[in-house]
Amino acid sequence: MTHNFQNLAKPVQLICPACRSQHIETLDQAKEIGGAVGTMVGTAAGAGGILTGTEAGMAIGVAGGPVGMALGGLAGALVGALVGGTTGRTLGRNIGASIDEHILNNYQCKSCGHSFSGKSLIANTAKTSL
Ligand SMILES: [Zn+2]
Repeated sequence: MTHNFQNLAKPVQLICPACRSQHIETLDQAKEIGGAVGTMVGTAAGAGGILTGTEAGMAIGVAGGPVGMALGGLAGALVGALVGGTTGRTLGRNIGASIDEHILNNYQCKSCGHSFSGKSLIANTAKTSL
């Protein structure tokens, strides 16, 4: 399993609540799923906007005659699907990241395999500081 950790914000060093190991990895399951679902939904939504894109493209292409209209319509449709998919992916990943963070046990200890959520970690920190 490979993950891109570059974009992950890690303000604090995570420590396993079970064994105190610092070898913690994030699972990001919901984020990955959210991104994939978002891409599909977004592409579908973008495809729903194809008509608008096609019409806009054709309107621009009118100046270039029948061939210009066809090319303009195609470009408009492609842009609609592309933008929809990209937007949907970003949105899906953001929602998924939020699910990972608050609902799922997104962190897993590589030393003992214990998985825990960021929420419980924050709760633990709050308790210790009292
Ligand atoms: Zn551990």
